[in-house]
Amino acid sequence: METILLLAYAESDGSLAKSAREALHAARTLNKALAGSSFFVGLVGENVQAAADSIAACPATKYFGVAGADFGQPRYTSDAAASEAICKAAQATIVVAPATSRWARVLPGVAQRLGGRADTHVTGVIEAGGQPMINRWYYRQRMEATQTRTQRPWIILIDPGSQTACECGSGSAKVEAVAINLPDACRRTTVMGIREPKADAQTIRPDAQLLFVTGAGWTKKQADGQAHVPEAEKLIRDFLRLSRASLGSSKSLVDLGGEGQAVLSFLSHLNQIGQTGSTPRHPKGLSTCCHGEEPHTVGWRFINERRAISLDPNCGWARGKADVLYVADAFKVMAKVNELLAAKK
Ligand SMILES: Cc1cc2nc3c(=O)[nH]c(=O)nc-3n(C[C@H](O)[C@H](O)[C@H](O)COP(=O)(O)OP(=O)(O)OC[C@H]3O[C@@H](n4cnc5c(N)ncnc54)[C@H](O)[C@@H]3O)c2cc1C
Repeated sequence: METILLLAYAESDGSLAKSAREALHAARTLNKALAGSSFFVGLVGENVQAAADSIAACPATKYFGVAGADFGQPRYTSDAAASEAICKAAQATIVVAPATSRWARVLPGVAQRLGGRADTHVTGVIEAGGQPMINRWYYRQRMEATQTRTQRPWIILIDPGSQTACECGSGSAKVEAVAINLPDACRRTTVMGIREPKADAQTIRPDAQLLFVTGAGWTKKQADGQAHVPEAEKLIRDFLRLSRASLGSSKSLVDLGGEGQAVLSFLSHLNQIGQTGSTPRHPKGLSTCCHGEEPHTVGWRFINERRAISLDPNCGWARGKADVLYVADAFKVMAKVNELLAAKK
């Protein structure tokens, strides 16, 4: 009989992030599929009661918590100690957790301490023949595998964006406090603050409905024999502001900056999608001025509806991978789109 534990942390405002609710959905999927399994929740944070209450209507039968000032900030030593203690208190055999940067760097170490195993970047959980199974992708999202493990505890880190977020209602949860005696050696690291771009300079928005991808064409010479980078920059910025889309880029466009050529000032390598970039998940995608290649389209696999604007009607990428291709000048199309979006606002 498996004991399934959702392991999450409360945000600084006491809430549970969407990624935690997605992991909760996966944990509950396993719990429903595995006959006779138990389902518990474990929470870490400065204060965990509000987070527990926010999901109190879920079918978990026990809540474990490690709370206190020492556990509000992300820090390997305190997070690992808290996670280890909760896993032991719950006697969990399967631990499901969100694959956020905070948990992804801590939980494989916790698996080691517990004599278990961890799998990262999991995109699905299923049951087959009475056994829990996971799905994950290999070779930069080219091959999908279904696998299982006999080793317990088994820690499963769920990739954010891969699940529906559990919308179970709130209520009043009874949280069993797990006591920890945190040695001073575990308190040496302190988070001094968070530096982040201003809201309007933050172009990567994982929760956006649309991924807007820019290619090197935005910086190329246009029909008048000139490049129009400042106009391109303004069109793209205006579109992002009006649509709240997330910004992706082709490798070529990101690389141009490193080669000293004129490039869009707000792009960094973090925007690059594809084989050597990231694999964002969004309901829709619009690529502009991209020719792209197979490695690039790998980054598009998790976009449900894909459209492209390119001047080149023979572009193999656009023909083969986009659901709708507009053979048009992206400068003109995006200017019109921005005009329509502004009028709608
Ligand atoms: C090992 C390896 C890994 C790679 N990994 C990645 C990766 O992770 N991500 C990635 O993106 N690439 C990757 N690449 C590079 C990839 O193969 C392509 O070279 C790259 O994606 C092309 O970028 P692009 O489409 O922006 O530029 P280009 O190929 O230069 O295409 C520009 C396009 O813009 C169009 N255009 C120009 N002006 C306009 C206009 N006014 N309106 C509309 N369209 C216009 C042109 O018709 C052209 O199609 C990788 C390559 C290798 C070898």
